[in-house]
Amino acid sequence: MPTFTNPTDIARETLKALATRRIAPTPENYQAIYHEIAGTAPPARQPIGEQTLPLKSEGKGEANWAELIRELIRQWDLKQSGVTASRKKEGLGRVLSNFAKDPALLHTKLQALVGSWGEKPAIQAGVPVDGPEPVEDAQASPVAATVETVANVEISLADVPGALREMLALTIQTGVAPRLSQFPELSDEAILLARQVREARDSLAIQGVAKKLKQFWIKLELRNDSDAQVLDGLVQLLRLLVDNISELLLDDKWLVGQMAVIQDIISQPLDSRVLYDAERSFKEVIFKQGNLKHSLMEARTTIKNMMATFIDRMSEMSASTGEYHNKIESYAAAISKTEDINQLNLILGDLMKDTRGMQLDMIRSRDELALAHKQVKDAEEKIRQLEIELNQVSELVHEDHLTGTLNRRGMEDAFGRELSRADRLKAPLCVSLLDIDHFKRLNDTYGHDAGDEALVHLVRVTKEALRPTDVIARFGGEEFVIILPDTGMDEAVKVMTRVQRHLTKNFFMHDNQRLLITFSAGVALRNAGEGSESMISRADRALYQAKEAGRNRVVPAD
Ligand code: GH3
Ligand code: MG
Ligand code: MG
Repeated sequence: MPTFTNPTDIARETLKALATRRIAPTPENYQAIYHEIAGTAPPARQPIGEQTLPLKSEGKGEANWAELIRELIRQWDLKQSGVTASRKKEGLGRVLSNFAKDPALLHTKLQALVGSWGEKPAIQAGVPVDGPEPVEDAQASPVAATVETVANVEISLADVPGALREMLALTIQTGVAPRLSQFPELSDEAILLARQVREARDSLAIQGVAKKLKQFWIKLELRNDSDAQVLDGLVQLLRLLVDNISELLLDDKWLVGQMAVIQDIISQPLDSRVLYDAERSFKEVIFKQGNLKHSLMEARTTIKNMMATFIDRMSEMSASTGEYHNKIESYAAAISKTEDINQLNLILGDLMKDTRGMQLDMIRSRDELALAHKQVKDAEEKIRQLEIELNQVSELVHEDHLTGTLNRRGMEDAFGRELSRADRLKAPLCVSLLDIDHFKRLNDTYGHDAGDEALVHLVRVTKEALRPTDVIARFGGEEFVIILPDTGMDEAVKVMTRVQRHLTKNFFMHDNQRLLITFSAGVALRNAGEGSESMISRADRALYQAKEAGRNRVVPAD
């Protein structure tokens, strides 16, 4: 190796060595290599060059966890300059969550982490270490460290591209990729980009990387936009839920469905569409539950009133029966005492009058009780009906029962949402209207039930060929609307043609017969500010042209 004496040459060679050996250009690594090239004595520390982990695993593939944990605890308790406790905590958290699933990799990464703490000089006794922790300084981040290194070293003009390349690669690799850990695809893409930046040596390669970088930033921006929506949706949803819980303490059963929805949402990656759908159906359920609760309260009040009437009647009856007994007794006594027939006639007349009154009272009470009983029964039946209805509300609102697609109402909601999203993002939006070919013939030949099954089959196959963001709704009979967000005309026609091809490959089976179902479709691309009705009617005209032209085809609308 040639010897260098000029500090500028040594600095340049140091940067080269950092890049070729793929060593993170931290100030410490820079310093060590600088000394290595200059042939001067480095400060006492681990040699740099290959893997500079202070802890080596013992044996092949056998990770020595005990030693690693011991060293981790030791370094955790030590105070190193430039490594605050919160920085250690954050680093450890990141490594644990990123590599928890791969113990061998976890071991290696933990070693590297603990090793990097160990590379910092420990703060000497006597230097105050208590008190508020220092704010994370720029030096603490590897990216900042590179910039700092480059900033402090003279670099010859020839080395500027290399240093810039390394800074960009490091910015992407250590500054961007770890912040995307929630989106593994983007994070992997960032790491790949960093590698391509490092390897780009001529202008063609750099142009190539620049294009990929541009696409990558666009994806990030889209991601950010949908993140903000997800957050808004979540907050809105939780607010609704909390409000509703306090209203619903009447019956815990009513909460079960909503809790299940929340659990369902939380168990999957968050998605603004899922949140929106949940919010919409919650609103419906809450409104409906409000009405039902009112009706249930009324029904309960009716039962209570009936019971009160019953008790009143009972006490009236026992009172009048008691009175009757008393009267009978007094009449009996009077009858036994009197010898006078006229007197007896008078007594019997009174007795007859009282008995008749008593009889009328009894009949009135019995009728009233029968009526009360019937009203109680009706009220109970009403409660049962209301409860059944309550259980069905959420499903009934937006879905078509036969095919499980959105119904007309669900489609209107989805359309409204997609129109405002397209306005906000200035994105294209297409709609397709499809109609099954000769469906009447299929019904007439194989029966209405077979027709129904064919509709279910069509929807299942269509959904398979559509993209996850496309929305399918039953427009009526054997006609379906498909909303295609972020899609221009060519792409929409391509998607619908793909659905057609998929359908010709997946026959509808009826009584062991393979039946081919085809459809015709019209596609309309949204004009600026255009509403859903106008889009659908243009798609309908194109659909008509598709039928005229011989069916089983997709026609774009003017
Ligand atoms: P084309 O569209 O190719 O011109 O012919 P078609 O036979 O499909 O046209 P048309 O619109 O005249 O017939 C549609 C038929 O679809 C009429 C109706 O009996 C049937 N249909 C509508 N809704 C349903 C349903 O829910 N189930 C079943 N089985 N049939 C339905
Ligand atoms: Mg039709
Ligand atoms: Mg038809």
